[in-house]
Amino acid sequence: MSGVQRIADLLAREQPGGTVRVRGWLRTVRHGKSVSFLEISDGSGFATLQAVAPPELPGYEETVRQLGTGAAVEVTGELRESPGKGQRFEVHAEQVVLVGAVDDDYPLQKKRHSFEFLRTIAHLRPRTNTFGAVLRVRHEAARAIHDFFHQRGFIQLQSPVITTSDAEGAGEMFEIAGGRDFFGRDARLTVSGQLEAEIAALALERVYTFGPTFRAENSNTSRHLAEFWMVEPELAFCDLDELVALAEDFLRFVLTRILDERPDDMAFFDQRIDPGVVDRLRHVAESDFERLDYGEAVALLERSGRDFEHPVRWGMDLQSEHERYLAEEKVGRPLVVTDYPSAVKAFYMYENDDGRTVRAMDVLVPRVGEIVGGSQREHRLDVLRRRIAEAGLPEEDYWWYLDLRRYGSVPHAGFGLGFERLVQFATGMANIRDVIPFPRVPGYAEF
Ligand code: ATP
Ligand code: MN
Repeated sequence: MSGVQRIADLLAREQPGGTVRVRGWLRTVRHGKSVSFLEISDGSGFATLQAVAPPELPGYEETVRQLGTGAAVEVTGELRESPGKGQRFEVHAEQVVLVGAVDDDYPLQKKRHSFEFLRTIAHLRPRTNTFGAVLRVRHEAARAIHDFFHQRGFIQLQSPVITTSDAEGAGEMFEIAGGRDFFGRDARLTVSGQLEAEIAALALERVYTFGPTFRAENSNTSRHLAEFWMVEPELAFCDLDELVALAEDFLRFVLTRILDERPDDMAFFDQRIDPGVVDRLRHVAESDFERLDYGEAVALLERSGRDFEHPVRWGMDLQSEHERYLAEEKVGRPLVVTDYPSAVKAFYMYENDDGRTVRAMDVLVPRVGEIVGGSQREHRLDVLRRRIAEAGLPEEDYWWYLDLRRYGSVPHAGFGLGFERLVQFATGMANIRDVIPFPRVPGYAEF
């Protein structure tokens, strides 16, 4: 039997007994007068396993007494009920093999380190309980996303990372050096796989992308990364109401899965990172989302009596402070805001009859703000051409996108979910840099 979490799971059901072998890294080491206590972590789950090494072990003085935090070991021994506090079972070591020694200056000591400091040692932070839990929740969320779409008949589309069109029309793209020489035209890193997803949706009916996207926005916030992962479903024969319903089902499905599959990790986040996060997720997973149109949202903000940094008036884009006020204080649960002014949204969104708003929707959640942004797409050729011109974008770059409106165009819709914002919401981690293995932000791209 091996794997710390598997042993812990088994012990939850059965009495201890039998020989086990565990391999991992020492989270802590205590050398008592005559025995040593080794706390072993192997990342298989939140649990660690304590090994007790008695002095009669072969090589006790030379090996075990020299072990330090961070060393890699393989321990074989018998599982026994533990007389000590803090764990029910422990391994009575019969053999301890030092697999990889650790230098004296190992930076992860037992004390609590700040997340800022841990970012500077991103090669070691997965060994902490917080980052181990983040990485496991991230994995479970990704798995749930694929399951959700697969169960509903969506096909995953691999959209390109290198692109020559700006999907958001916002000009926040990283240029590729040498792109012109290589491709014969300027090339950039994608900000979204949406336009390509639309191509596929107009053939396969329902598709999704799940890949890295890049934004050269100089926003040093706790919610923006220069490289982040985006999940983008796109559906043909779909309007905004159906899209909102899909986004709700999707978020509830993924959050429920995380709660069900990673209870130990979530209990940790609840106790040490964000008290109440488990109840909050459960509540979200069980309740319907509130729905407001943009005009109602602006009216609520105007009546709030709040002194916002960005004054509220019809026509402005909602800022994070507004989104959070609505989600946290006004509604107290996720809400969907729809029908934004066309001027603050991308050119491809379906124009409403009023000529000044578009069929957009954002899902806003407490603490994070915007987590999903989506829309029904403009499928009418004439309106789309006008919107591209109004946005000041070169029509030539979008010839194929316009073609789709000439050859069997249908109403269609899709959204983009920022994967790290979802993980942030699920774990209660305050900074988005601490929910991605290797954050890329202005001025920093180490590792
Ligand atoms: P924001 O207003 O928060 O910058 P946005 O309107 O630029 O978001 P979209 O272009 O709609 O966002 O992108 C879809 C989703 O991608 C957002 O809802 C968000 O979850 C996520 N997202 C956008 N920009 C970033 C970023 N820089 N880092 C991480 N996630 C992001
Ligand atoms: Mn943005």
